[in-house]
Amino acid sequence: MTQLSHRDVVASGSGAVRIVVDRARCSGIGICESLDPSHFEIGDDGALMLLSDIAAEDDDTVLEAVRSCPALALSVQPE
Ligand code: SF4
Repeated sequence: MTQLSHRDVVASGSGAVRIVVDRARCSGIGICESLDPSHFEIGDDGALMLLSDIAAEDDDTVLEAVRSCPALALSVQPE
């Protein structure tokens, strides 16, 4: 299965994508949570929790959160 980089998140149809977190990169800054609290939440321990790892491929809110991660810790892959 092809994994797209955060720069390659381009909506093109009506399918779904799976959100992938590179835990080694994530520093718990929380920008993703601020942009899309329906998918991302920083826990009390400072670790990122995915509230749902599936999103519509044309969900601009979650895709913007993926693109905006300054640590490049987020990506999506076709579901
Ligand atoms: S924006 Fe990136 S580094 Fe920050 S919590 Fe989200 S995934 Fe982790």
